[in-house]
Amino acid sequence: MIDAALAQKIVESSTDFAIITLDPSGQITSWNPGAEDLLGWSAQEAIGRHGRIFFTPEDQAAGSPEDEIARAATDGRALDERFHMRADGSRFWGSGLLMQLKNSDGFVKIVRDRTAEREAERRVVTLTDALPGFVFEADSDGHLVQTNARYRDYTRRDDPELLGDRWLDAIHPDHRARVREAWEEAVRTGATFEQSFLVADGEGAYRCFACRGIPEKDGGRVLRWIGTCIDIENEAKARALLEGLNLSLEHRVTDQTAALTESYRNLQAEVAERERIEETLRQSQKMEAIGQLTGGVAHDFNNLLTVILGSIDLLRRPNLAEDKRERYLDSIAETATRAAKLTNQLLAFARRQPLQAEAFDIADRLRASDDVLRTVSGSRIAIELDVRCEPCIVEADPVQFDTAILNMAVNARDAMDGEGRLTITVSESNGVPATRAHAAVTGRFVTIAVSDTGAGIAAADLPRIFEPFFTTKDVGRGTGLGLSQVFGFAKQSGGEIAIESEPGEGATFRLYLPHAEAKNLPPEPEMTEPSGDVVGTGGCVLLVEDNQLVGEFAAQLVGDLGYGNMLVSSAQEALALVEADPRKFDIVFTDVVMPGMSGVEFAEILRARYPHLPVILTSGYSHVLAAEGTHGFDLLQKPYTAERLARALRMARGGNQRSG
Ligand code: ADP
Repeated sequence: MIDAALAQKIVESSTDFAIITLDPSGQITSWNPGAEDLLGWSAQEAIGRHGRIFFTPEDQAAGSPEDEIARAATDGRALDERFHMRADGSRFWGSGLLMQLKNSDGFVKIVRDRTAEREAERRVVTLTDALPGFVFEADSDGHLVQTNARYRDYTRRDDPELLGDRWLDAIHPDHRARVREAWEEAVRTGATFEQSFLVADGEGAYRCFACRGIPEKDGGRVLRWIGTCIDIENEAKARALLEGLNLSLEHRVTDQTAALTESYRNLQAEVAERERIEETLRQSQKMEAIGQLTGGVAHDFNNLLTVILGSIDLLRRPNLAEDKRERYLDSIAETATRAAKLTNQLLAFARRQPLQAEAFDIADRLRASDDVLRTVSGSRIAIELDVRCEPCIVEADPVQFDTAILNMAVNARDAMDGEGRLTITVSESNGVPATRAHAAVTGRFVTIAVSDTGAGIAAADLPRIFEPFFTTKDVGRGTGLGLSQVFGFAKQSGGEIAIESEPGEGATFRLYLPHAEAKNLPPEPEMTEPSGDVVGTGGCVLLVEDNQLVGEFAAQLVGDLGYGNMLVSSAQEALALVEADPRKFDIVFTDVVMPGMSGVEFAEILRARYPHLPVILTSGYSHVLAAEGTHGFDLLQKPYTAERLARALRMARGGNQRSG
């Protein structure tokens, strides 16, 4: 209770508040300047009236003035917040406190205009209600005192069901203890509260909210807590989904990586296997070529051995003139050298090694492998080497070069079905002309053109012939690796390979190799002079032999045995000589396997036309005669000795005619 005198003083001095005194019936007894300002009545007008003059008509009708006095009389004070009315009828929001006066039956009423605060408060409430998230206010002890509409709407709980600690009831049981602990911790320390948790909606379904509460402090003291929560369910779901996805992606990546690693390993194994097969095929192709060579080489060796054995035979003869002895020894030495060269070439061909470039003369190289080429081609293919540049130096792997030439020669032989003409032309060219497969290249090149008179290549096959494993040959006859070696060799040597072919018109392969500067190349071993005709007493022998060396040796031998002789290298030539003068020759000694007309065909013609002219056949190819037979002619197998030749010639001269 307040002292009446003090109250009087306050009333008179105060302008901030309306301070009014009332008697126990509610009649106004004093009216301060603040009341004049706030309520619009002057003290004169107001004093003596009943205090209800500043109550709204509704409140007056509801009996509020009387009720207030009754409450203040009982409780000592009555606090009220409501609209008040001014003298002009306008209204304002005010808080009023009615207190009973000490030592008096009267009351004092203090009214304050709170319109502005109320506006602000209402705006804040509207604002928080408009927010899509939760807003709450808690007192300094952490008890919720207010929530916004969104909080209440979502949880379908009224304030009483959320205030205090009851907001925790809406939190998912799994999260509740953690959240309570965190909240208590924040309240205790005054630190910002930050948690995400599931909150139940009215139907009991949960959504995830991220909440943040900050303390409003006055100095170090926390006055209250203001907090907000936002719905992060979608983000949480998206994150969970993403995590799931990442996880499954990780799994898938791991799975696929494993699968990839696996298939990469398989691929590696396949590649290794393929490389192994390719290598095997390359080797087997070599082996095939070597196989073909072997037969021919045996023949060549027989020729060489014939010369050597024959020379030895002759050397054994007593009282041999010194010059003859020298000649036989030279012959042995030279023939042995050739044999060695042949075996060297075979060894080089069979060798496995990476490209080893060196400068060499193409023409020399081709001449040196002439024997091998002839062997591979077979004797029914005429080989022509046309060298148009001297020297023709290139820098490349000579062994690979030999192999490339050999591969092209084998193809030519196959395309010609074993019969025809193989021409190798070596020339210099300025650049490589453009083709469908490659652009024009400038620079100095040596061109090796390998032409045949074979079947040619179908237009459709042309783009594919250099592909590894492309073959039109029967199984077992072609591997399809020959031209790929030629191609690889050309490219790796900085050169090119070009092809010209029309079906039925043969084919020309042009191998371009970069021209290199001349180097000191080892000199070629000297060849012996071919022997001229020797006219002896035992008659004249017509020698037909396509191998120059063997021919020369046979001529020497026949001469030494006391016969005159004439050496020609083909059956056609021999036939022409016989036809020109049939009596000139007493014996015909002919090789069987030769380009053009074979020895057997030649012998048949002679037998038909000149039945008295004896013919002796000679061959190192046992299988040729095994297949065709000797057709009744005498056969001297290569290698033959001087002694066996002498006997054969003697028998032929002796008129030992063959039966038909
Ligand atoms: P292969 O000789 O084992 O078949 P190549 O790679 O040497 O393998 O040749 C591939 C194909 O090119 C041959 O099968 C053939 O059809 C064709 N070919 C190569 N050279 C000639 C040629 N001189 N004349 C006709 N066709 C040829």
